[in-house]
Amino acid sequence: MAKILTITNQKGGVGKTTTCVNLAASLAATKKRVLLIDLDPQGNATMGSGVDKHELEGSSYELLIGDMTAEQCILSGLPCGFDIIGANGDLTAAEVELLQLPRREFRLKMALMPLHERYDYILLDNPPSLNLLTVNALSASAGVLIPMQCEYYALEGISALIGTIDKIHKRLNPELKIEGILRTMFDPRMSLTKDVSVHLVEYFGDKVYRTVIPRNVRLAEAPSHGLPVLQYDKSSRGALAYLALAGELIRRTEAELKQSIAQQPDT
Ligand code: ADP
Ligand code: MG
Repeated sequence: MAKILTITNQKGGVGKTTTCVNLAASLAATKKRVLLIDLDPQGNATMGSGVDKHELEGSSYELLIGDMTAEQCILSGLPCGFDIIGANGDLTAAEVELLQLPRREFRLKMALMPLHERYDYILLDNPPSLNLLTVNALSASAGVLIPMQCEYYALEGISALIGTIDKIHKRLNPELKIEGILRTMFDPRMSLTKDVSVHLVEYFGDKVYRTVIPRNVRLAEAPSHGLPVLQYDKSSRGALAYLALAGELIRRTEAELKQSIAQQPDT
């Protein structure tokens, strides 16, 4: 059964796309079967994975509207090591078009049903907003991964997101939970970073990943080469950090699975 994760934060520039692409590559490097779905019309995750967003025959737009099946939209056998459903500017029209469609909050969930046996992880990259596309992502997901920069307004900024996750959990998707909080562009030399980091751990407890992603120029350079950092510079601090994150995510997922099996009543 595929684990579907939404990577979101309504703030721009916090490392959502960087996390989506590099976590996908790191999970794939550990032999997990991974699909990345780009739900941002800017198509940064698509381009950063080495796929030209202008050349897509099927994209997340066709998937959401129902013009094409997931099977038809998937690009596989790519050098990046994971499969992709890409996005481009077409996706901006989807929000308005979705309003007219039945079960508009569940279009993505329905479209992904046939893929549960094919993948171990499906990662959803999101635009910096909370709209019907994000609602579709949250309705389809088991968990939310929130990348955050440890800066002054960081906590304040995610209260709206936490509220939305709560609402979706109550009304649309009882399985949804916060999978983890990821500290990105981390600079331990700054005392503000340390202070905010301490607050984060007080507030979210063990939801905060132990792995932190350092500020690393290789992470910023890799997308312009259409490569995950693991292929651009595999010994960089950025590459090692995302490999560590993949390891932590896999261990958490396996621990949860064991726990849920242990909790099942004997038959
Ligand atoms: P978002 O998707 O949240 O808008 P991005 O992942 O596109 O954010 O990151 C914003 C910018 O910061 C990009 O130019 C990206 O290359 C750069 N960046 C992201 N994470 C790091 C990091 N850990 N170190 C250095 N640069 C980073
Ligand atoms: Mg982005």
